[in-house]
Amino acid sequence: MTQILVTGGAGYIGSQTCKALAAAGHAPVAVDNLVYGHPWAVRWGPLEVGDISDRDFLDAVIEKYKPEAVIHFAAYAYVGESTRDPGRYYRNNVAGTLTLLEAMRDQGIPHIIFSSTCATYGNPETTPIAEDHPQRPINPYGASKLMVERMLADFQAAHGLGWIALRYFNAAGADPDGEVGEAHDPETHLIPLALQAALSGEPVLKVFGDDYPTPDGSCIRDYIHISDLADAHVRSLGYLRDGGESGAFNLGTGKGASVFEVIDCIERVSGRSVPREIVERRAGDPPVLYADAQKAQRLLGWSPRYTELSETVTHAWRWLQSHQ
Ligand code: UDP
Repeated sequence: MTQILVTGGAGYIGSQTCKALAAAGHAPVAVDNLVYGHPWAVRWGPLEVGDISDRDFLDAVIEKYKPEAVIHFAAYAYVGESTRDPGRYYRNNVAGTLTLLEAMRDQGIPHIIFSSTCATYGNPETTPIAEDHPQRPINPYGASKLMVERMLADFQAAHGLGWIALRYFNAAGADPDGEVGEAHDPETHLIPLALQAALSGEPVLKVFGDDYPTPDGSCIRDYIHISDLADAHVRSLGYLRDGGESGAFNLGTGKGASVFEVIDCIERVSGRSVPREIVERRAGDPPVLYADAQKAQRLLGWSPRYTELSETVTHAWRWLQSHQ
């Protein structure tokens, strides 16, 4: 069994990836400071509580488990907060990752899979977005992730680090078996907020703008199931181990859904109405984002299993109902 260090392993996508790693015969070790993660989400291996910016802590964990690779989720991920408090994002996401990379370098861990984001592209010039699209992030969160991608390339050139940056589009859904799901506090994402509104009638969902240049006037996003994201991480490990070339991969379904389409889908799945009001646009929301994920299909052999939004929403709805 190969030990894999999973930073942010108590989080939404990290915990689902620990489950996928265990199913593939790896031994995940979750590292999490529990600022946003949940101890109950760590069920497929040990949890080491500490911070990636604490070099002594990292060294001790690495010496204890001697991991073969790191999957790095640990980061702050609230776009709005990043614009109000960029220092928090650069310190945790960028400086914290630098500490992790130096520890990996000094202790000879050869491979890292990094949680990146379509937010590194900023306002897209073309859709679908492929990996070679220019990266001009429009908020500190996206900038912090892009800076890490640059560090990975520099550590590769200088120290031979093998890396994969997985640029997620909109992570959504819950574990199909109901074991882990979304529990952000505060919650800012469309699907859990709309489900909550369907479940209890409040708070009313705020639709951020219906005057975008899209067919129904609301923003279009590419919602990718966390179980498919988890699968891509496991495949990326194998790809690097087999000598695959380092680089970035988009992860999305390749299909966009508008905010109103998501609401309709939630109403169908839940059999309830989603109370809503139209409000102002949210700053920094591009009208349309969806992925060209053919590179991941070609090189990682990955293709999303959950291509219908209704499946993703069904899992999220089940999770919300059972974890009130
Ligand atoms: N959205 C919305 N109301 C909300 C939350 C989100 O209308 O309460 C919209 C948002 O403007 C975007 C889409 O839903 O167009 C997805 O937003 P989310 O925050 O889930 O993910 P993001 O695309 O920002 O990563």
